Amino acid sequence: MTSQAWLPIFRAIAAEIRAEIVPLAGTVRGREVVGLGAGGDRTIYLDQLAEGIVVRHLEQAYRSGLRFHLISEELGERDFGGSALVLCDPLDGSVNAKMGLPYYAVVLAVTEGDRFREVRLGYVQNLVTADEFHAIEGAGAFRNGKPLQPSPAAFDGRSIPLVSFDAPSGVEPRERAAAIFAKAEKVRQLGSAALNLCHTAAGGVALQATPAPVRAFDLAGPLLILREAGGVATDYDGDPLEGVSVRLDSRTTVLASLSAQVHAFARQLVGERVP
Ligand SMILES: [Mg+2]
Repeated sequence: MTSQAWLPIFRAIAAEIRAEIVPLAGTVRGREVVGLGAGGDRTIYLDQLAEGIVVRHLEQAYRSGLRFHLISEELGERDFGGSALVLCDPLDGSVNAKMGLPYYAVVLAVTEGDRFREVRLGYVQNLVTADEFHAIEGAGAFRNGKPLQPSPAAFDGRSIPLVSFDAPSGVEPRERAAAIFAKAEKVRQLGSAALNLCHTAAGGVALQATPAPVRAFDLAGPLLILREAGGVATDYDGDPLEGVSVRLDSRTTVLASLSAQVHAFARQLVGERVP
């Protein structure tokens, strides 16, 4: 089975999650803590509900003959008899969903192995707008089913039009990004790592800066979308990401842009601060 054959399954998952989650976003019931996820974050009712939908669809896929191995944020790993990995963050941007802020997504990927370079299909859907991004390795990136044909924001070589920043609270990661902030016309911290990378792939975000390590797992599909759109991503020090593990315990920093010029400029800014 080709990775592309997963696309209708992922779309069905996203449609059902969207129908169930959106009405509960921002409610007391939705944000109730129900346990601790395998990814290390607290699981709220919305996470649990979304993951239950994923598992139900994958059990159905298994019954129709598909064999794979699921890695999902809350439950961890579940074997469905095959070596291809299906990665699932049922709700990326949980805090936004919990607080009723309309920027959260379902994130799915299929990989042949446990490294970024082995990701074959990446799928992200904004659950509020139903805006959908996906990429198939070697076959391009798509937004709402149409080839993504991004045009990077104009870059004058001196300032970055819009920087999306992602980091936990605290001063240290902000200090690591200070040189970038100094050259940014606008800065955003929106709260869904997957959607941020999709909008980097679409050119709306000129630079994604993630100076403190975040879970690599959520980034696997979105990074394929960026790569297939023609963008470039490294870790914050400029090292390649291809060999990074996609498993739940793996973490990485990120510096990503659709534009190689913006990426090189950011590398220079970050590099200048290293003693
Ligand atoms: Mg999540």
